[in-house]
Amino acid sequence: MQTPVPATLSGEMPETVNFKRQVELNRVYVGDYPLVKFGRLKDVLENTDGHVTASIEFGRSVGFACVKAKVSGRLLLKCQRCLEPLETEVLGSFKFALVRSEDEHELLPAEFEPYLLEGEEQSIIDLIEDELILCLPMVTLHEDACSGYMEKQNKKVKAAIEAEKESSNPFAALKSLKDDLSS
Ligand SMILES: [Zn+2]
Repeated sequence: MQTPVPATLSGEMPETVNFKRQVELNRVYVGDYPLVKFGRLKDVLENTDGHVTASIEFGRSVGFACVKAKVSGRLLLKCQRCLEPLETEVLGSFKFALVRSEDEHELLPAEFEPYLLEGEEQSIIDLIEDELILCLPMVTLHEDACSGYMEKQNKKVKAAIEAEKESSNPFAALKSLKDDLSS
């Protein structure tokens, strides 16, 4: 009898596979997916250079067919204050029990999150993309003051203070009157 050995296939990462079949094979995939593959995530990215690293493990957990994965990567998002790019590290992990129907779902212990299998093959890309989207920060802001933006704001504030000083200083008005008369 053959003991299933996790097959770590580096480099060639599949986009779609038959999840149930991978469970039978105890398949493990470790490698990179280029960011351009993630159609929905692309909308929030400042650019799609780079990749995310994923390790995806198919197997059984207390008898239930499962897929678990870890994903990590550096995404270039837009700072919501200064609108400049901001590199954000994302790190996610998930575990799903694979079910074929609502009935199978009912049988799952509460701690299992179900993944409904549809069709012959399922998309690993979609699975990873869902996780990446969940990992996105609620608010994207530079940690320290955004330099360019803060400079502009400081200038505005200074100008406003100057204007305020001018208008509240009676001598300023007098001075400009005098300047007018002498010119
Ligand atoms: Zn910023």
